[in-house]
Amino acid sequence: MMNIPFVSFKPMERELDAELRQAFERVYDNSWYIGGKEDEAFEKAFAEYCHVGYCIGTGNGLDALMLSLKAMGIGQGDEVIIPSNTFIATALAVTYTGATPVFAEPDIDTFNMSPDGIEERISGKTKAIMPVHLYGQPADMDSIMEIARENHLLVVEDCAQAHGALYKGKVVGSFGDAAGFSFYPGKNLGALGDAGAAVTNREDLAEKIRALGNYGSDYKYHHIYQGNNSRLDEMQAAFLSVKLSHLNQMNVERRKIADRYLKGIHHPDIILPAVMDQVEPVWHIFGIRCGRRDELADYLSEKGIGTNKHYPIPIHLQECYRNLKGRKGDFPIAEEISETQLSLPLFYGMTAEEIQYVIDAVNQF
Ligand SMILES: *Cc1c(COP(=O)(O)O)cnc(C)c1O
Repeated sequence: MMNIPFVSFKPMERELDAELRQAFERVYDNSWYIGGKEDEAFEKAFAEYCHVGYCIGTGNGLDALMLSLKAMGIGQGDEVIIPSNTFIATALAVTYTGATPVFAEPDIDTFNMSPDGIEERISGKTKAIMPVHLYGQPADMDSIMEIARENHLLVVEDCAQAHGALYKGKVVGSFGDAAGFSFYPGKNLGALGDAGAAVTNREDLAEKIRALGNYGSDYKYHHIYQGNNSRLDEMQAAFLSVKLSHLNQMNVERRKIADRYLKGIHHPDIILPAVMDQVEPVWHIFGIRCGRRDELADYLSEKGIGTNKHYPIPIHLQECYRNLKGRKGDFPIAEEISETQLSLPLFYGMTAEEIQYVIDAVNQF
């Protein structure tokens, strides 16, 4: 029997070992840890990678999203439309500003927020839409941007799972007014700790996001906002520069694994993820659906295969959002996904034998 974890960083770390150690030594030898040339170099490189004018390093992805919303002046009394099926951080970014998240249902086949559901959720209080490129597949950005334009709404892309994903040839993060990225270690571009970044083409937003993440300060000891402390530190920036230079190659590798799953998995009880036309996902997660999901997870676990559920409890039913008065049945598609979705192992360096072992195991369920 093989033993295949849900995720392993080992193959990537083996390959980048010398480069990562050099990055550590470069920073350590400099004895300069916050706000320096590593941060500057990574921000410049990542802005170029995302085809945007500005990148602002932050402490994590949640802060990148929250600071972007705050920089737009979004707060108490405002509403932001987000998908009903996403990681909790999307909602937390909204509520930290004092604004209220309003949920729009996803498409059950692509898992991404459906444009059809957005318009009916717009009210007089709506200020922004926050699409999530969930599992690494771009959301339907043409439709979402059109709805935003027609209704004079801002757009913040949650790109935490989609570094480098393409929609009609254009990279995610370059569509909205701003975008937030997470560099949590397990993301496609991961630091060796917590880290994140906001990107934007708008100079006014870039300046405000940077100030808000640096104690609300525009220059030293002069504070124009009651800001946060959320900056990208030099060590993580140095590691991220190494990893960024390998990101495209690693995303290609992920795509190959996903293609093998898509071609190889055939089971009457298992629904494979749908890929929209004209998008290139980066497969942060390979999510299948199965009515006997928990049974399938147990079965795969007995075969030595690690799986995960993204996410077992939809946000409107989370205890921390009891104040939003969500009830079971309010968002049936998000609930259906939370009850049936299962993520298979997909990580850089998975061997052909490991991939085949997963395919065979799933097919024999
Ligand atoms: C990971 C993630 C975040 C938050 O990023 P952190 O760096 O963990 O704060 C936000 N949104 C989505 C969809 C994520 O997957």
